[in-house]
Amino acid sequence: MELNTSTEMSTFRLKNLLKLKEHLFHLIYPNSCVSCQNELIDFKDFICPFCAIDLKFTYYEKFKEPTELDQLFWGRVHLKATYSMFYFEKGKKIQPILHALKYKDKPKIGVQLGKKMGEKIKNIEAFKDLNALIPVPLHSQKLFLRGYNQSEKLADGIALELNIPVITDLISRTKNTESQTKKGKLKRWENVENKFSSSKNKAKNLKHIAIIDDVITTGATLEAIIREIQKNNPDLCISVISLALAK
Ligand SMILES: [Zn+2]
Repeated sequence: MELNTSTEMSTFRLKNLLKLKEHLFHLIYPNSCVSCQNELIDFKDFICPFCAIDLKFTYYEKFKEPTELDQLFWGRVHLKATYSMFYFEKGKKIQPILHALKYKDKPKIGVQLGKKMGEKIKNIEAFKDLNALIPVPLHSQKLFLRGYNQSEKLADGIALELNIPVITDLISRTKNTESQTKKGKLKRWENVENKFSSSKNKAKNLKHIAIIDDVITTGATLEAIIREIQKNNPDLCISVISLALAK
């Protein structure tokens, strides 16, 4: 290539410099698909189109009859509505997404997914009067180690679409004070994991809230949270929203 003028020369240098900067940025902050690790072109994305196509949507927003998630809580707690965007299956593309959201310091994925959830929830009649979103709280120790609560990030994304607040001090995990020595291992774990306390005042002006979770398996944690909130606020309508439901 022959460069004639000094202007052409400096444009050429600048272009190369910008390219080099981009390459360096990619080296330091590689943006790869959380599922297959292939490099992504768009910095805003976290999953490539090939992996995205494999995600299993529930399409609950189109359901007229009760869903599996509704049925999971039947006879346990009374809920106004439930929603989950994906099905969770081990070994499928949803697993690395949840893993990245929880353990790979990727809170932005949560907000992005939350926005997508919000877009779908907007069209569900039962959620039209929703006043607030309540993320499932993390243990303070876990929160300290992870730096963020993944359910809160999902709630932040949903809130952007629905224009309602996220309330993080309505429910909290409590320290276990009972003697644990006599309980079996599983009982002990359940006891520690599912102890919550709720504030009555925080829900005073609310009529309908949704608890936000990342993935629902047995529903035991949500049941414990809902029971605790309903104990203090018997007239409050409660719904459940999760990113994924384990099959
Ligand atoms: Zn991929």
